[in-house]
Amino acid sequence: MGGYSLLHGAAARRDNGANESLLMRALQRPPRPLLFAAAALLFCTTFVSLAWRLVEQDRHLERQRAVERLGTAAAAISAELSRRLTTLEADLDGLLGQPEINAAAAAFGARLPADSVLLIAEGDVLRLHPRRHVVHLPRVASHDGPAALFGDAEEAEFARNDYPAAIERLLPLARSADTSIRAGALLRIARNFRKAGRVHDALATYDQLSALRGVAILNSNADLLARYGRCVLLENSRSGNLAREAAALLEDLHRGTWDIDLSAYRFYVSECQRWLGPKAGSAPSLRRLALSDAARALDGERERVRAGGEASGRREFRAEGESMLLVWRSTPDRFAALVAGPRLFAPAVDASWMFDARLTARAGTQEPLHVARSITVPALPWALELRALSSGAESTIRARLVGLMAVAAAVMFAITIYFIGGAMARETKLARLQADFVGAVSHELRTPLASIRQISEMLAEDRVAAERRAAYHARLRWESERLQRLVENLLDFQRIESSAGRERFEPLEVALLVKNVVEEFREEVRDSGCKVMLHTDDVPSVRGDGEMIGRALWNLLDNAAKYSPTVREIVVEVGSDGREVHIAVRDRGVGIARRDIDVIFEKFTRAESARLTGARGSGLGLAMVREIAEAHGGRVAVASTPGEGSTFTITFPAERRS
Ligand code: ADP
Repeated sequence: MGGYSLLHGAAARRDNGANESLLMRALQRPPRPLLFAAAALLFCTTFVSLAWRLVEQDRHLERQRAVERLGTAAAAISAELSRRLTTLEADLDGLLGQPEINAAAAAFGARLPADSVLLIAEGDVLRLHPRRHVVHLPRVASHDGPAALFGDAEEAEFARNDYPAAIERLLPLARSADTSIRAGALLRIARNFRKAGRVHDALATYDQLSALRGVAILNSNADLLARYGRCVLLENSRSGNLAREAAALLEDLHRGTWDIDLSAYRFYVSECQRWLGPKAGSAPSLRRLALSDAARALDGERERVRAGGEASGRREFRAEGESMLLVWRSTPDRFAALVAGPRLFAPAVDASWMFDARLTARAGTQEPLHVARSITVPALPWALELRALSSGAESTIRARLVGLMAVAAAVMFAITIYFIGGAMARETKLARLQADFVGAVSHELRTPLASIRQISEMLAEDRVAAERRAAYHARLRWESERLQRLVENLLDFQRIESSAGRERFEPLEVALLVKNVVEEFREEVRDSGCKVMLHTDDVPSVRGDGEMIGRALWNLLDNAAKYSPTVREIVVEVGSDGREVHIAVRDRGVGIARRDIDVIFEKFTRAESARLTGARGSGLGLAMVREIAEAHGGRVAVASTPGEGSTFTITFPAERRS
């Protein structure tokens, strides 16, 4: 019986055939999927950039729409603001007609926001509502008090410097039921005590005076005068309490505690600063200062009305960086006016979920805004600023969605392209390998056919010497056997691949089978100097086709010999763990590169070792070994170290004994 190798000859033969170099080149070509991946990448980039452009356009459109929406909203709000102004002016007219103007004004003032104040003047009396919104008043009526009552005391104080006598005269007045007389007396007593050097008595008297909180005297206020007097005393006596009292005084001044005019306010503030230093103490609220200034400006308007000017009017007023609107109305004996800040118009500036709207000082509208409109409202000293709130968020969400979809589509496309490309590349490679295989097979067929033809011609024409005829006949037989083997192997492979032949399975003594095949193979390679060693254990039997298993083993032996050009030693080992039986074929040949290990069992695949050794073959041998192993419910594995050799192991399930 001849060898089982499918296409290879008995031993490794060198051949520089064009088929093999073609095959190797085909194997080394860069895989096509890369090309497809590059194409996919190009497509994806274009796709994503198109999507991005779409998103940008959408954003631009959205912005334009937002600006338009803001324009419409701005016009509506502007009209509402004008209406609000008209209402406020009507309110002032209404106040002027009220018989109890002060009560009505107080009620009106109570509803005003912190940036506005109402001014009502009736005759010489001028009131601001709410009073706490300003720190000083435009004008304060003078309260000189009944100066004649204090004539005697002042004569003693100033003409004779007789302070005890002056105090004696003032004491009864300090018990008067009239608070302004009481306040005038206490103020003078304290002064006399001070002049007499009785600091403690002076301080105590100022404390009494201070208790008359709301009483107005000398364009000022009893409490303010008392506290100021205490500070002067403390200053003179160099008391450490000065700083604390002066700071408290300054803070109350900034709060607008007392009805004083601007010059008094400035005087007391400068005194406090003299005691405390310019930077120390509390700072005034700029809004209250601005409102106080605006009230003064309104008082000026009132003077103009009185001098025959227009009875009503409005104008802008700026102070402390704030823009305010002054509106006034008057009758011959009454004057009603408003200092209006933007918050008074807040009810008309109705923002929505779509935009934020506010009134701002005109100067502050230059800041760059995302989507915003800023318009000046007729008659108002502010700009109406609208800023889109939702449009940005909406288009961002849309942009993210489109972007996400684009990326997802691109990824899916890339994956599809990759797999299609991979499949196409595999198909192309297989077709190329098959073409190479046909080339190799036809070469294998042609060689023995040419020998047979040549020998038979020589024999027919009687050109062979009689003593050599026997050798020629033997050669003829050998070549025709080789041809038959080749054809049978091809057919066998076909049969094994289509899983036919299972019906021929029977219990096999693997050790015996291997021994026979190895012996045959030794015979085959005897001339080439290749040694084959065999180690067998006592192993269980295997159910299978003896011829097929023999063919698989022959292929492994043939490869071991082919790919071991220098150390020509092969070891065959049969063993078992009880459940499985394995046949291992170990050589000390060129070995197999790591990257080739996974592919050598594929049909028509030849690896680097084939190129290194120049051994001929078709790449079908190992594919057939795997088919045979799997047909028996087993497997084939390989372990190899390049340069040191390889071990191929076929494993079959052991037959279960019943
Ligand atoms: P071939 O006809 O090329 O020998 P096989 O399917 O039998 O085809 O083997 C596939 C490839 O695996 C071979 O071309 C060779 O590169 C590699 N190969 C197989 N057996 C061995 C071995 N024992 N040592 C080194 N390389 C091997």
